[in-house]
Amino acid sequence: AHLDRIAAVDDRVHAFLHVDTEGALAAATAVDERRAAGEELGPLAGVPVAVKDIVATKGVPSTAASKILEGWRPPYDATIVTRMREAGLVMLGKTNLDEFAMGSSTEYSAYGPTFNPWDLSRIPGGSGGGSAAALAAYEAPLAVGTDTGGSIRQPAAVTGTVGAKPTYGGTSRYGLIAFSSSLDTPGPCARTVEDAALLHAVLAGHDPRDSTSIPQPVPDVVGAARRGASGDLTGVKLGLVREFAGEGAEPGVMAAFHDAVDALTKLGAEVVEISCPNFQYALPAYYLIAPSECSSNLARFDGVRYGLRVGDDGAKALEEVMSLTRESGFGAEVKRRIMIGTYALSSGYYDAYYGQAQKVRTLITRDFTSAFERVDVLISPTTPFVAFPLGARTADPYQMYLADLYTIPANLYGGPGISVPCGLSEGLPVGLQITAPTLADDRMYRVAAALE
Ligand code: GLN
Repeated sequence: AHLDRIAAVDDRVHAFLHVDTEGALAAATAVDERRAAGEELGPLAGVPVAVKDIVATKGVPSTAASKILEGWRPPYDATIVTRMREAGLVMLGKTNLDEFAMGSSTEYSAYGPTFNPWDLSRIPGGSGGGSAAALAAYEAPLAVGTDTGGSIRQPAAVTGTVGAKPTYGGTSRYGLIAFSSSLDTPGPCARTVEDAALLHAVLAGHDPRDSTSIPQPVPDVVGAARRGASGDLTGVKLGLVREFAGEGAEPGVMAAFHDAVDALTKLGAEVVEISCPNFQYALPAYYLIAPSECSSNLARFDGVRYGLRVGDDGAKALEEVMSLTRESGFGAEVKRRIMIGTYALSSGYYDAYYGQAQKVRTLITRDFTSAFERVDVLISPTTPFVAFPLGARTADPYQMYLADLYTIPANLYGGPGISVPCGLSEGLPVGLQITAPTLADDRMYRVAAALE
């Protein structure tokens, strides 16, 4: 049914870069056979899932929406893909994104944009706009995203879906095409909080192949979502981030957010205003740290090991082939990040830029830890504006970067964050973000489920 739905609507939505019809049907048959053989399978066995195309999938094209990886079929699966296969999930295909997950609108995909199912003239968020749009268009019931600065949560907010960034290290990065290794976090996208929790439980858990994976039990996110669904938040303290509750957001977004805060109060939660004074520096710190790490990670795309190779006529020097390949293989935003990152890491500038940004990161972590001494979770809008028209923010990179103003602090800190729909502004969805202490992912699911 989902393959039929994709065939019917994806020429208009363009959520998918690759639909794996044969693979999906074979995987579904394999689930039936495992059941017939008496294997006990979990609650998501047989459920289709769409996977962001920055995740390596064995034998299935994995492009990161870049020309430089066109035609690359990984010889292995990412750990999260292995886990989904073991749990019996059926992968439908690979979803569109901003090239290498750098962007907030999916307009920076080398294969053309994805369109928001709520209004096809508008963006579905980014970088994981394909995964979010696939859910909103009912092309998939579940999807996988990656969140480096907001790429799961912001697309969820602008498509009226649910997206969760787990605690950094709670889900394995093994087999993700790396963007910013100290921030990248794969996580679940769904249409309901409980669905997101069920997928979270499959994806999460220690992986010895990822050196930053956390060797601790996964919090009971499914139980927490079910508890929250009862609608009782008595005794839960919500911290309203003062810096994110005033200017900077569209009035319609703030109105929907404040209505949701009132609803949470009616469910018994106590709302406390909290100041996180260093959050204002999160965006500039992120735009030094993420490009720095990306400039290092993307050095591997040299025209030799993967995908595209340009100018290899047998006469040119190796360095020239590398340079020509990178020149034509990377898009403008990716080049911008590589340039910024290379500059910020160069000797003489390292301390002034990268070093300073790392110090800001520590201050932001301190804001979170002192806030969580007073409250259980923090709440804010997920993003300052609703889905904007295609093209509205591509001329000025800073206007695009602002989409992640509220989501980036959690990435710098490493804690979990979720976006849950909280109403409409001018007929378009608004998301509420809940962030929690590291390893307390269950808390955000409880509050999110209560609001839903
Ligand atoms: N929009 C942010 C960026 O462009 C975040 C991207 C992400 O989370 N992958 O870097």
